[in-house]
Amino acid sequence: MGSMHTGLEEAKGGFQKMAEYFAARARGGAGLMITGGVAPNRQGWIGPFSIKLTRRSEIKKHRIITDAVHKEGGRICMQILHAGRYGYHPLCVAPSAIKAPINRFKPRALSGRGVERTIKHFVRCAKLAKEAGYDGVEVMGSEGYLINEFISSKTNKRTDQWGGSYENRMRFPIEIVRRIREEVGEKFILVYRLSMLDLVEEGSSWDEIKHLAVAIEKAGASVINTGIGWHEARIPTIATMVPRAGFAWVTKKLMGSVNIPLITTNRINMPEVAEKVLNEGCADMVSMARPFLADPDIIAKAKDEKVDEINTCIGCNQACLDHIFAQKTASCLVNPRACKELEFPLNLADNRKKVAIIGGGPAGLSAAVHCGELGHEVTIFEASQEIGGQFNLAKVIPGKEEFHETIRYYKRMLEKHNVKINYDHRVEVKTFPASDFDEVIVATGVQPRKLRLEGADLPHVLPYDEVIRGQHDIGKKVAVIGAGGIGFDMCEYLMHGDQSMPTVEQFAKEWGVDTSLEQRGGLLNPVSQKSQREIYLLQRKASKHGAGLGKTTGWIHRASLKKAGVNMLGDLQYKKVTEQGLVIEKDGKEELLAVDHVIVCAGQTSVNELHTCFQEAGVNTHLIGGALLASEVDAKRAIEEGMKVAYTISA
Ligand code: NAP
Ligand code: SF4
Repeated sequence: MGSMHTGLEEAKGGFQKMAEYFAARARGGAGLMITGGVAPNRQGWIGPFSIKLTRRSEIKKHRIITDAVHKEGGRICMQILHAGRYGYHPLCVAPSAIKAPINRFKPRALSGRGVERTIKHFVRCAKLAKEAGYDGVEVMGSEGYLINEFISSKTNKRTDQWGGSYENRMRFPIEIVRRIREEVGEKFILVYRLSMLDLVEEGSSWDEIKHLAVAIEKAGASVINTGIGWHEARIPTIATMVPRAGFAWVTKKLMGSVNIPLITTNRINMPEVAEKVLNEGCADMVSMARPFLADPDIIAKAKDEKVDEINTCIGCNQACLDHIFAQKTASCLVNPRACKELEFPLNLADNRKKVAIIGGGPAGLSAAVHCGELGHEVTIFEASQEIGGQFNLAKVIPGKEEFHETIRYYKRMLEKHNVKINYDHRVEVKTFPASDFDEVIVATGVQPRKLRLEGADLPHVLPYDEVIRGQHDIGKKVAVIGAGGIGFDMCEYLMHGDQSMPTVEQFAKEWGVDTSLEQRGGLLNPVSQKSQREIYLLQRKASKHGAGLGKTTGWIHRASLKKAGVNMLGDLQYKKVTEQGLVIEKDGKEELLAVDHVIVCAGQTSVNELHTCFQEAGVNTHLIGGALLASEVDAKRAIEEGMKVAYTISA
């Protein structure tokens, strides 16, 4: 299980919570786990007062984690991460005083003595980790943090023995690894995370990377882990649109160059993907990180041949990385229990109840599965012929195919917990047998907001759900009203149709990744494919399009639409729809967008009448998901509310 910062590191009672979080993954079969990054000194903090290990007095709390993991038969390494110029605080340092494009703090250049001191701090940190009971350490040498900054001429302009030639620039990581090995002895695991593909200008060449790998082995590393892309790189490396195992080919190129095991990473989210990577000789070991948030038991389920029970990471970043960037504790969209294992333990409820759930969308499914896990007898009433609700729309959007896995998981879990499903059953208050149930959960979701505009009833004005369901033939020129998550999804759909996930080669071409590794940093000019349709993505706000999308994925969606030539217009008013198209007012002037179709992606309204009627009839009901609040409802909130209501009725 690869390193992930969860925010528990700095939270109140965080070490107890982390102990349970890691113990759950150890129980679930993770062979070796790596903690989130721990700074070797204050300059190396990722943010002010973030986790560090610099003194013996700090060992005690780490012991809570290592003891809990060892009790479950697991193994755990602590990652040592010096953030360098990515440190979001005024104390940050770097080889040279060059500001990172993604940080507002300019680093101070380390003096020669400062470099020596920093190496000593890495060694001290490793020694303390050993005393704290960790089985090893991982030295973070990739993603553009301090060590990577020493290696690249882009960020290292020094003229002393730590800068200039490549031999000089790579001295910093080699000295760190060599001196840590000297200090901790032969048996302690020492993983080195090597940046094998920087994806930035002036990044390392492949020869340099190979040379460094050999030197790192010689310096005493036990294993080399793969790092892909600096954080400032403008190429997606882990988001959903990256093909599964989309960077395993990089590790494969290094196979045979060193004698120690190589680990590959990035978008490996299911056991069969990991198996394929290993069978194809891409690596000796596989590391997954987010898939362990999504399902702590992923390995045990794979071992027991219960792959259909795995809750698959969909690569959305919405509850993990996006939370970290918003300084919130990480969790998981598909598994809201992640990092909250102590708050939501998997214990059967004392009072088993009969629960009716109305609506089989994300909120209803989550409520059903969590109620089932806690021992309740659950019946779902679903108006359509399939479960999934909004998931069924999401799964057809290019780049969101992983939602098929989410639906597969829920179907299997409903079966496992003997949930009864009544399909094609639109609940009527009058005929509903409320007295058969102890609790009724209303999860009736949302409906698309209708446009209130002259001409909105014309046949070429369409709601987004009908378009995604393929109910209309869409013309070559389209105006999309509303640039929220659905508006962006709609553009992807209109640009690519139902094209399947890109291959690794197609992805590399589209984003400009040099798979031959002849170019420094692995960068090429992207070959963008213009959309066959002329698309206008419209919003009334003056702000940047997609400003409300996820922090770590919004820029990817924007870049993708820009490359395809989508016209993003904002700060406008809608005047009317005519036979000829959509009339807007922009900069005080009326303008006709001569389009064949106007697709309305203007948010949603709640469908919650049932709840009100049930309440009036004195039925014990709970309202969750989009039916509770349509504004900015997303699968993350719906699924979390589904889990929470299960605990509420179990209390
Ligand atoms: P949304 O994010 O609320 O966006 C709807 C957009 O429609 C607004 O940006 C608004 O822009 C416009 N709008 C609102 N009322 C309007 C009206 N009466 N007339 C015309 N335009 C109107 O809703 P959504 O796009 O349906 O997404 C729903 C939820 O799913 C959101 O929470 C979203 O984040 C989530 N989601 C996220 C993703 C993702 O992150 N990739 C993908 C899909 C869905 P103006 O007011 O500026 O015109
Ligand atoms: Fe994976 Fe999304 Fe969960 Fe993060 S929030 S672990 S990306 S499913």
